[in-house]
Amino acid sequence: MLEQNAAERIHRIEDAHTNWYLVEDGGTGGLTVVDTGLPRSWDSLQSAVKALRRSTADIEAVVLTHGHFDHMGFSRRAQLELDVPVWAHAEELRVVSHPWRYDHERSRLPYFRHPEFVKIFTEMTVMGALWVRGSESVRAYGSTGRIDVPGRPQVVFTPGHTHGHCSLLFADRGAVIVGDAFVTLDPYTGREGPCVVAGAATADSARALSSLDALAGLDAGIALTGHGPPWKGKPARGRRAGAGGRRGVAARRPAEPRRGQAGV
Ligand SMILES: [Zn+2]
Repeated sequence: MLEQNAAERIHRIEDAHTNWYLVEDGGTGGLTVVDTGLPRSWDSLQSAVKALRRSTADIEAVVLTHGHFDHMGFSRRAQLELDVPVWAHAEELRVVSHPWRYDHERSRLPYFRHPEFVKIFTEMTVMGALWVRGSESVRAYGSTGRIDVPGRPQVVFTPGHTHGHCSLLFADRGAVIVGDAFVTLDPYTGREGPCVVAGAATADSARALSSLDALAGLDAGIALTGHGPPWKGKPARGRRAGAGGRRGVAARRPAEPRRGQAGV
């Protein structure tokens, strides 16, 4: 599914409840791919560039928010077939090379009792999740500054979901791609609304919640997440009112499945 201009010149592609993005530098400028979904998202990429009246030859770089399997889908293939560099934070390179080997606070096993997780994970599997390959020879970016790729995103270090997780700010467009710093659909529980991802896929949820402070201070009215629809508003920790004065739980600790509990 392609959502054109989810934010200004940032297009959202959703595969198996997982978002990745095509960022245009300008009307005719180069393209940056932010995150790469699942392996079969490669087909979605072909359709998306066609719909945008562009070509894969316009793609100049891949930038990763983090290295989880559902964000690494066609990263390696883009390196090999499009001959473009892949960028990730320096502390993320280990996960980027092994997208299924990552720290997580909780066992994944209890989630398999949860019907929403099974449904979403089955869709991810159909899209090739189990066969994802990592990327080597990745260019490392730091915790601040801009990355010299089309769109020139500014790095906002938001660790916690993974140790090197980053968000990417496009201040001129009032938008930030937050990856899984917080999501509006938790694929592990099916929970809708902003929250940090369940402990089955989060290295340090306390740190992830702290990282929301870095996002709350940004001049961005729209947050583009790794899972779920865009979030219009400021992310904030806990049950504090949002920037617009509305009662907003901008991001909450996720519900976790408990032993003997049906669902979450
Ligand atoms: Zn993730």
